[in-house]
Amino acid sequence: MSIEMDPRISRHYLDLVAQETRGLLEKGFTPSGTSGDVSLRDPITGLIYVSGSLVGMPFAETDFSTFAAHDVSVHEPDGTNISPWALATIELPMHLGIYRARPDVHAIVHSHPLWASVFAITHETIPLALAEQMGNLGGEVNVAKYAPAGDVKMGAYIVEALGSKNAVIMANHGAVTVGPTFEVAYRYSYFLEQIAQKIIYAKLIGEIHALKPEDLNPDSYMKGTEGYGAGRDDNLE
Ligand SMILES: [Zn+2]
Repeated sequence: MSIEMDPRISRHYLDLVAQETRGLLEKGFTPSGTSGDVSLRDPITGLIYVSGSLVGMPFAETDFSTFAAHDVSVHEPDGTNISPWALATIELPMHLGIYRARPDVHAIVHSHPLWASVFAITHETIPLALAEQMGNLGGEVNVAKYAPAGDVKMGAYIVEALGSKNAVIMANHGAVTVGPTFEVAYRYSYFLEQIAQKIIYAKLIGEIHALKPEDLNPDSYMKGTEGYGAGRDDNLE
């Protein structure tokens, strides 16, 4: 029996989201091997592709090492599932909320990373401590208030704490980075891990000398993801 596929759905994007979900495991961003999720928004159709699971297979038991195109679910911007073969991660409302609030964002990486999670546990903001942090993450990294995974409130808290930046910590949970492409969103995830680790070490040997955004020359860094994402992005192809 075959399932008819909505003609707007791109096989390429199903494969890409599957590959980038496996990436969470390959890049060391998921301690359990099954936590975290990624998504993309097709700039042409507006459809959202997100890590999910085959109907009948709980997401928590979907092994990221073998994550495949059929584990990806596809949604209208309002969340309607148009992929009858798959169900989305319960964190779908968070992905939808970010895309609604941020037209510049076309890729989201939600991970459960090692060092950034220390700040998720302590609810401490990661200060703006290195000049290059501005261009990568958009400044200090806020901690979004806690809500259980899948709760619609979680999405609202994350959108609020993220603002126009590229990274946010989720209290007692993990982290989210956003970008115009997966390549950029993952680059910010790496940067977030690095700055989190550096701040922890800095606290061990001395005091943090934080910068203010006005201490930096605005011409020396790219503001948010400005300049990317006009029309279809080649890196999403
Ligand atoms: Zn999570």
